[in-house]
Amino acid sequence: MPELPEVETTCRGIRPHIIDKTIVDVIVRQNQLRWPITENIHARLLNRKITAVLRRAKYCLIKTAGDETIIIHLGMSGNLRVVNHQVAAGKHDHLDIVLNDQSVLRFNDTRRFGAVLVSSSPIEQHPLISHLGPEPLTDQFNGTHLHALAKQKKCSVKSFIMDAHNVVGVGNIYASESLFMAGIHPARQAGRISLKRYEKLSSCIKTVLQQAIEQGGTSLKDFVNEQGKPGYFQQSLAVYGRAGENCQQCSNKIKQLKLAQRASYYCSHCQR
Ligand SMILES: [Zn+2]
Repeated sequence: MPELPEVETTCRGIRPHIIDKTIVDVIVRQNQLRWPITENIHARLLNRKITAVLRRAKYCLIKTAGDETIIIHLGMSGNLRVVNHQVAAGKHDHLDIVLNDQSVLRFNDTRRFGAVLVSSSPIEQHPLISHLGPEPLTDQFNGTHLHALAKQKKCSVKSFIMDAHNVVGVGNIYASESLFMAGIHPARQAGRISLKRYEKLSSCIKTVLQQAIEQGGTSLKDFVNEQGKPGYFQQSLAVYGRAGENCQQCSNKIKQLKLAQRASYYCSHCQR
């Protein structure tokens, strides 16, 4: 499943190929995604110039001149790439945004949990976006922020950092990895962690996500690859998926437990 680093890499990958281009056609082959594709997408985007490609949480936001913004979510299996318009569309290529240089921004999604919507309101006020917590890679996200929000919270720290109201983009894998790096047990109550430990945790979250983005950077050429799909990252993970293996720090066995229905991996010696 594409996580924040994949979405960031997607935005960086497509940006230079679509920015300042004008949309000359929109072809919808399948509009039944997680939500139906905005009905009048063709009329709303035609002849608009793309002015910016941004990411907010796991949404790719393509801004156009005028005030229409395309909101794209990759869901479980979606990807975006830029191809020549002569490249035949495959079975799961649900949407093409055709640009004035004969290239096409193509949305592919085998499982169809992704979304493509057009919004003309200020994007920060869109219902999918307005409730979201800060971006993890900004200064707004830090130990003080987490510590203040965690007050009185009885949920596990892992569920707490995975809640998009508190911070966006910390998926299951990155939550496990960040908590290991910070030495915090995933089941510890969110409200019972010191400011100092939250400072450590917020900095580990930034490091883990930044490393994943940097690793993904090597795959940027795949966004204009006609056969291949931009792959999701194969990363080096310290604990996630490693139950029963030796901890890299202390050589005790990595353990697994379920928290809020999600598999969590940790070292009971290194994480308290
Ligand atoms: Zn250990």
